[in-house]
Amino acid sequence: MRGLLKEKVALVTGGGSGIGRAASLAFAREGARVVVCDIEAVGGRETVSLIREAGGEALFVEADISRTADVEEMLNQAVRAYGGLNCAFNNAGISIGSVSTVVCTEAQWDSIMNVNLRGVWLCMKYEIPVMLKNGGGAIVNTSSYAGLTGSKLSSAAYSASKHGVIGLTKTAAIEFAQQGIRINAICPGATRTPLLLRRLTYDPTIETKAASLNPSNRMGLPEEIAEVAVFLCSDAASFVTGVAIPVDGGQIL
Ligand code: NAP
Repeated sequence: MRGLLKEKVALVTGGGSGIGRAASLAFAREGARVVVCDIEAVGGRETVSLIREAGGEALFVEADISRTADVEEMLNQAVRAYGGLNCAFNNAGISIGSVSTVVCTEAQWDSIMNVNLRGVWLCMKYEIPVMLKNGGGAIVNTSSYAGLTGSKLSSAAYSASKHGVIGLTKTAAIEFAQQGIRINAICPGATRTPLLLRRLTYDPTIETKAASLNPSNRMGLPEEIAEVAVFLCSDAASFVTGVAIPVDGGQIL
């Protein structure tokens, strides 16, 4: 443990899988007490067990980040258990694969926007007042390389939601900079997680396609994305706010 997040309370959404699990483990390794949130309880509880086995402290909260009542309760549980909140990694998100703009249904559009964009906004809406009571904090929102550019491997709906996350991040960063809250976004490139790998069932070439998006010619690992979230949440990034950092092997240059 390097102790970058010693004595901090950190909340991670989508903490039951992929990037969120790797980040929950990395936050705990750095000394944070971690509130692991996910809509999927089995994965979320597994992450908490992994943290405890490694000697860290964590609790699981089952929450759908697109539902106001769940988000409010998630913050209430964090405050009840650990007394406040210093760091939040608003990471939960969904994908619908490469669905064309004309084939995308209204239900798909609404679900992508509800989770990827409205969910991130709802989390910040309830996290920021709690952080202000502690005198500040740090928020990292998960966008995507598809939030910075168009993408042939995802949908316009997904890309629009992830571009939206960056707008949300930048304006909220301006609003709260003088009150001690830093708000940044990370933009992962194609990363080896269930979100991408479940596409193997209908596209056996997805790994090659994903790797070829960047000059490193490989997919990222969830741990490589997690380390950037740790840095942005830590005091080492004390003068970094309002940025959207690509973590993508050089895809966006
Ligand atoms: P993942 O392995 O599918 O993990 C995401 C977790 O979030 C899953 O446990 C998922 O549950 C959960 N979740 C979904 N909807 C939720 C909701 N409404 N409320 C709470 N939790 C919810 O995906 P990942 O690849 O780690 O993705 C994490 C983030 O990175 C997402 O925002 C994604 O868009 C972004 N990202 C991923 C990649 C990539 O290539 N993997 C690239 C760029 C950006 P279910 O399994 O039940 O859905």
